[in-house]
Amino acid sequence: MKSCAVWALGVASSCAAGPSGPAAPAAPAPSPIAARPGDTAITDVTVVPMTGDGALAHHTVVIRGDRIVAVAPDARIALPAGTTMIAGAGRWLMPGLADMHVHTWRDDDLTMFVAAGVTTIRNMWGIEQHLAWRSQIARGERLGPTIVTAGPLIDGDPPDWPGSVVLQRAEDADAIVAAQQAAGYDFLKPVNQLSREAYEALAAAGERRGMVLAGHVPYAVGLDGVLAAHQRSIEHLDHWLAALVPPGASLPPDDGSLAHDRAVLAALDPSRLPGLIARTIAAGSWNCPTLIALDRVAGLDDAGALRRRVPWVDLVPAAVRARWTAELQVPGLTAEDFATFHAINAHNARIAAALAAAGAPLLVGTDTGVAFVVPGEALHDEIELFVAAGVPRPQVLRAATADAWRYLGQPHEAGVIEAGARADLLLVASDPLRAPLPLVPDGVMVRGRWLPRADLEARLAEIARRAAQPIDPWNGAPPLAADGRELSRARYHKAIADAVVGQERVVVSIAGGKRIIAGQLAELGEYEASYRFGPDAAELSSTHHTMRLALAGKIAAGQLTVTGTDLSGKPVSLNAPVPAGAFLSAPSMGGAIQLAERLAGMRPGNRRELTALAIDYFPAIGIAPVHYQIERQPDRDGRPRFTVAAVRSGSRVTSELVIDGGSVAQSTTGAEVTTRVPGARQ
Ligand SMILES: [Zn+2]
Repeated sequence: MKSCAVWALGVASSCAAGPSGPAAPAAPAPSPIAARPGDTAITDVTVVPMTGDGALAHHTVVIRGDRIVAVAPDARIALPAGTTMIAGAGRWLMPGLADMHVHTWRDDDLTMFVAAGVTTIRNMWGIEQHLAWRSQIARGERLGPTIVTAGPLIDGDPPDWPGSVVLQRAEDADAIVAAQQAAGYDFLKPVNQLSREAYEALAAAGERRGMVLAGHVPYAVGLDGVLAAHQRSIEHLDHWLAALVPPGASLPPDDGSLAHDRAVLAALDPSRLPGLIARTIAAGSWNCPTLIALDRVAGLDDAGALRRRVPWVDLVPAAVRARWTAELQVPGLTAEDFATFHAINAHNARIAAALAAAGAPLLVGTDTGVAFVVPGEALHDEIELFVAAGVPRPQVLRAATADAWRYLGQPHEAGVIEAGARADLLLVASDPLRAPLPLVPDGVMVRGRWLPRADLEARLAEIARRAAQPIDPWNGAPPLAADGRELSRARYHKAIADAVVGQERVVVSIAGGKRIIAGQLAELGEYEASYRFGPDAAELSSTHHTMRLALAGKIAAGQLTVTGTDLSGKPVSLNAPVPAGAFLSAPSMGGAIQLAERLAGMRPGNRRELTALAIDYFPAIGIAPVHYQIERQPDRDGRPRFTVAAVRSGSRVTSELVIDGGSVAQSTTGAEVTTRVPGARQ
């Protein structure tokens, strides 16, 4: 309680009378505590301090700047004129919540966290944007929760997610840790594809430099491996089920597939759980189960019902929502797959409850950013999943507040109501130790700034209004410039199940005798790209959140050479021979237009084969030969129609191409439909 001396108004007894449990002895002859004009006081409230069990009725909490300066019975605090009063009668005051596993990319997310009472987030994939947000929020220049952030994901080769830092050789680990530390990231996030050697080198480098590891359990490392390295936190109960399989049971190699999960479920032995929990406690590793993330995935077997039971789903832009549904439904998950998800969830809930019962340290986190896990709101659902699993509600709330800051090594900084702690507070009209928290509290104080419910609701309404609007990615931007003489231009919508998830605009022109196709593509909520392709030269750039890649391609002497930088800023240099007769294929609708240009003169029933060379840029960079088999079909609505089978790297994707007015095309596949937008501002 060293902070008391600094913050408790110089009245020593205020510490003794602070937020101890009801059984604490009363301080003898307490002196009155005087707030100062300009302070804020929440009066006559039941304080749930999270420093111990229970609650303190009829207390006043005084806030000065961003700090709590006093917590005491009402009668002991004198409130001079000029104190801002917040009436707490009949209500409860608890520390702000911490969502300890989020992925956040949009400003609106930050508002949604605060409106749901989430005043701390642990961001699990950090880029420069999060460092900027972290300091702006700390300086009070931006409304949002306190941010603790990982650096970019650290993975093996190839990484599971584009933009990860690739660590292959153990000797490179130290430089990666040093770079993330120098950039200002708070901790390291290892993920799935790291080799055992690379992981161990990363853990050792982190230990030397004082950066903890918090993340996945890489396939090659396993739960025992991360416990041996004392990984500070284990996300998603990764590999817990596999670790319950007795040694000697034959399992397919762990590749993260559902087939592997089913083999694990069939072989696991729950009697191994207590021993595993004991080893986890001994290793000092925390677990952040993120039960809600897989609960939502399992709920996608009825996406309509899921949409109805996620209260804030309409605060998420329509394009992002559509993508969430599509991404999981397009791969064709079967009833058996969904049954597997449900079975895993039931086991994970039991593991979480057993960890809690054994006193193993737990974090409450959501994996916000994955399908239907909505910022702020999802933490309430995660809390209720813990409660439903059998963890006593007060223990869950403690995990979601005080324990988060214990995990962060600053148990008196936040997550508790005591003198000296940061004023991150929720005022609610029901007893949080007995009933689910209201989704939007009566008021949230974040770093001493008071936001009453009406203010929070108004901010949410504004977000909902924006989320409902059709998104125009080029609103106010000038039309795409043509190179030389313009031949045509068009704008397209890309839709999945009738929801627009992306837009593209393309201009075709002739310059110096060469046909140039230039386009811009916005995959809403995912990435944006620009391209300009001629017959023997190409430029391509793409931004994924705030990371950017830029590539240039050139054909000379029968070779395509691609140079530039990838999303993590690393140089790229690739080359490949150009197959005889192949054309350099532009991405997306640019490529469809190039195909359409080559199909003139075909009659229904005619077939044609074409070869192209494509530059892949998302999710991975590469050069890919593409072989097209095309057949002209009967016209539709007077427009020529073709089926196109594209064979690349052994996989075959079939789509439909409809020529729509000269050189401009419309392309259809089973899942995605790209349609020309007639008369749209180009
Ligand atoms: Zn995550």
